[in-house]
Amino acid sequence: MRSLFLFSCMVICGFIGTIAAQDNHPNLDYFHKNVEKNIDSRRFGYEAIKPSIEKLKHHSDFKVELLGQSVEGRPIQLVSWGTGEESILMWSQMHGDEPTATMAMMDLFNFLMDEQDERGEALKANWKESLSLYFIPMLNPDGADQFRRHNAMGIDINRDALKLNTPEGRALKAAKDRLQPDWGFNLHDQSRYYQAGHQPHPATFSFLAPAYNEAKDINGNRMAAMQLIVALNELAQSQLPGQVGRYDDTFEPRAFGDNMQKWGVRTILIECGGNPADFEKQDIRKNHFLFYLHIFDQIINQSYQQYALSDYEAIPFNRRRMMELVVRNADYTYLGQHTHLDFGYQFVEYDTQDHRSGYVRGSINEIGDLTGYQGYQELDASDLVLEKGRLYPNTFKQLTDLTPSRIQQLHRAGYTAVKLKNLPPKAERYNLPIQLRSAKTKQVDNEIKLYGNPAFVLRDQAGRVVGVIVNGVYYPIE
Ligand SMILES: [Zn+2]
Repeated sequence: MRSLFLFSCMVICGFIGTIAAQDNHPNLDYFHKNVEKNIDSRRFGYEAIKPSIEKLKHHSDFKVELLGQSVEGRPIQLVSWGTGEESILMWSQMHGDEPTATMAMMDLFNFLMDEQDERGEALKANWKESLSLYFIPMLNPDGADQFRRHNAMGIDINRDALKLNTPEGRALKAAKDRLQPDWGFNLHDQSRYYQAGHQPHPATFSFLAPAYNEAKDINGNRMAAMQLIVALNELAQSQLPGQVGRYDDTFEPRAFGDNMQKWGVRTILIECGGNPADFEKQDIRKNHFLFYLHIFDQIINQSYQQYALSDYEAIPFNRRRMMELVVRNADYTYLGQHTHLDFGYQFVEYDTQDHRSGYVRGSINEIGDLTGYQGYQELDASDLVLEKGRLYPNTFKQLTDLTPSRIQQLHRAGYTAVKLKNLPPKAERYNLPIQLRSAKTKQVDNEIKLYGNPAFVLRDQAGRVVGVIVNGVYYPIE
């Protein structure tokens, strides 16, 4: 049923007005040649990266050592490469449901392992001689297995830098103490509902040079981290114009990033957010791969030193203003109140039982004036009639009766919900563009309500159905 979900994603994505992502960076060849095909979506556990790690163990350029074990006994490994003086420690996925940097790390390992063209070999030779790279891929394998943030004890590892209650936190701290890296990269994913400042784009990447004290002082190390972020911002802007944000630098005394900075490591937080047409973050992964290469070059050439504090401060702050779908200027009447209002849906994501696939439920999270908000899909309803979706009176036998053409017929007739004699459990997981209800259902409630998930039919002035909204997605009808 995954294909159905992809179908709905394609529909979502086809409709977003945004600046097209660039795909012309010379280092992208290395990505396409070395992408780890074993992983192609966000939900994977340690078993998915294990073959990559095993391969490294047999490659003479790499060293793989066991740093520790997670609460449930999964390995936490340290991968080392290079013999240079400047050392860089990168750890990914301390939050189990934040896997993008891990994916890109597997691609990077492939790139480092395999023979490349002349330019690629020259790049690698330069890095190998100048840098010592240390990676901890998937610091929280138990969380990854369940696709959840916390470790198996329910502890947020990123709030465990001082107490060190978790074996995962202790592994990271021990690696830092032993290696004393010059640079630290704390690699995460953030909500797809962050907007890049006041720009009508998601913050596909966000950065932070964490503060090391309450006063948010800037010492030499933190300044270097800020400058390197500016270099990464330039690269990101060239690929994803307008889609970069910055985190607020309020000091969090328990977090690893803040403490790494305090312990003298030049620390950078990278967060992967949302991206149009990229629900599974495969395009973001590609850009994250570019970051790795850029980081190595910048550190060797020290070219980041050209940037000023003001360049860092010019990166706009994240704002939680993205929506999946924003409907604007809808003519709507509720208990006699006639309005022209905006409303926006976000998705709440749910897991299937094995945590290896997911599904979403739309939720209206803001009603009224949505000026300043941006939808991945935008629908101006000024010249349309918004009609509550209706329940088709007859009952279908089973799911397979709902072919795409049958669903479209129902849409054209103003129906957004059907009854099924054999309603499968958790029917939402099919992500169909129609609401599925049991045979006993008498009516559907499609009122605009906060945190509700109503369905609508949109008609033009001639009364023709031009599209429907179901589960937070607008489906235009050709
Ligand atoms: Zn995180």
